[in-house]
Amino acid sequence: MNQAQIKEVKSLLSTPKNIVIVTHWSPDGDAMGSSLGLYNYFLLKKHKVTVITPNDYPAFLNWLPGNNKVIDFSKKPKVAKPLVAKADFIFCLDFNSLKRISDLGIEVAKSKAAKFIIDHHLQPEDFAKYMLHTTEACSTCELVYDFIHLMDDGKKLNKNIANCLYTGMMTDTGSFRFPSTTERTHAIVADLIKAGAENSEIHNRIYDDNTEGRLRLLGYCLSEKLTVLKEYNTAFFSLRSDELKRFNYKKGDTEGVVNYALSIEGICFAAFFVERDEAIKTSFRSKGSFDVNLFARKNFNGGGHAHAAGGESDLTLDEAVIKFVSVLPEYKKQLNKKK
Ligand code: 5GP
Ligand code: MN
Repeated sequence: MNQAQIKEVKSLLSTPKNIVIVTHWSPDGDAMGSSLGLYNYFLLKKHKVTVITPNDYPAFLNWLPGNNKVIDFSKKPKVAKPLVAKADFIFCLDFNSLKRISDLGIEVAKSKAAKFIIDHHLQPEDFAKYMLHTTEACSTCELVYDFIHLMDDGKKLNKNIANCLYTGMMTDTGSFRFPSTTERTHAIVADLIKAGAENSEIHNRIYDDNTEGRLRLLGYCLSEKLTVLKEYNTAFFSLRSDELKRFNYKKGDTEGVVNYALSIEGICFAAFFVERDEAIKTSFRSKGSFDVNLFARKNFNGGGHAHAAGGESDLTLDEAVIKFVSVLPEYKKQLNKKK
């Protein structure tokens, strides 16, 4: 956003508007934290604002302020559609392509609203009038914090906004340990805590809220489902839907499992495959120079960041894993590179 655009948006938002905030398919902590952080800010500014998600998200995010007002498009398309059609502004948070919001993308594309992308994923598509985008940001929440400051409202940060933004910064940085974590990340977090973010409590709400099934599923993955391919410094898990059922799977239960594969000494590429109703969902993580965004784009119809990406496949679970293993030789040199 250049200075003229900042001025323009500020002036447009100086009177109450109809605003819709949308975020990506299977929203995570950053998707919901940034959406509800912005939602709570716009409420303060007296706008009429609604957060619409393409589908459901994990229960460990249900405490976020404003959660009970979120509309799930997959369950209530008739409520969501007129809101999208009538909106003056649609804020698109934490995604870079309308494909990432599934059928909700058709409604967003049709709407005459001014679209505004706030995102930190690589290679954003050109579908918005305004864009606050940098891959340098550790999370979309960091950019929502910047947006509020660009609107000259830094002093308006309150506990609700701060709790939402802290959540996304924490989850997208793996609790402030990924290389995306900078001095600035910590400076913003300090400011959020000053504004009322309940940092320790948020860690408890997100990470210490396991069901017995989730913990046992993790144990099962680690002891029975891990494959390590030393030759490629690669490790992966795959889970069938009957295995999910056996452990009473709930949305979000497999989040973070892929990181255990990456934590093995010498492993620089980790993958996770899971059989979902719609398709096979894949998650990729890397350490060092291996770029999983490129890998996911090329092989699994996906994308994301250099060290964390995802994708999907219409193959069966077994076929997707076979495909994965069969393309590894192409990457052998990269995967064996000393950092
Ligand atoms: P996760 O593996 O946690 O689902 O996702 C890791 C990162 O990759 C996130 O930033 C997420 O937005 C992105 N991502 C996950 N799945 C997909 C996908 O199917 N397509 C694209 N373009 N990005 C994805
Ligand atoms: Mn994010």
